This record gives sequence, C-alpha cells and structure tokens, in this order.
Amino acid sequence: MGSAFSYKCTNPDYSYEATVSGGKDCGFCGEVESMVCLDCRELIDVLTAPAPDLKPIEPRCDKCKVQNLRKFYPGRTRCPKCGARLRKDPNSDVLWD
Ligand SMILES: [Zn+2]
Ligand SMILES: [Zn+2]
Repeated sequence: MGSAFSYKCTNPDYSYEATVSGGKDCGFCGEVESMVCLDCRELIDVLTAPAPDLKPIEPRCDKCKVQNLRKFYPGRTRCPKCGARLRKDPNSDVLWD
C-alpha cells in the first residue's frame, strides 16, 4: 500500500499531468519507483522489483520497453514534455494498493 501524487506542469500552454508515487513505493505488484522515460517523455511509476520475491530487475518503461529512464526527484525533475517546473498537487494524495 502506498500513496500517489499528482504532478502538474506549471507551463500553461501544456497541461501535462502525471500521477506517480513521487519516489520509491511498494504496491501489490512489487516495488515501484517514479522515473521519467526519455523516449515517451512521460513521468511514470516503473516496477523495479516485482512481487512476491522483490528481486530487483532492470527498470523498463511499460509503454516503449526501453530502459531510457531517469530517476524522478520531486522539486528537481522538470516536465518531461516541455522542461518547465512540475508542481505537486496538494489535493492529490491518493491511496492505492
Ligand atoms: Zn517509454
Ligand atoms: Zn510541461
């Protein structure tokens, strides 16, 4: 069980928004970590250690299956679409599991 946050691009011309855990988290499918896929230009949660044994795997983008990923650092990582700042939506604390 973990929580997810919504990150919104502060650039009004794009309304990019992504809902991710914002760091390392643990869900029913294993351990996930928020990363930016440089190929899809998306902020996503990537499975880093699948349940039940939680053995670390090489993280891969779900969509393009490429390992061109960068770790997401809240407050530091910029919008993958346009490079503007991302702001955490304070009302977006969603629980998942
Ligand atoms: Zn991708
Ligand atoms: Zn943007």
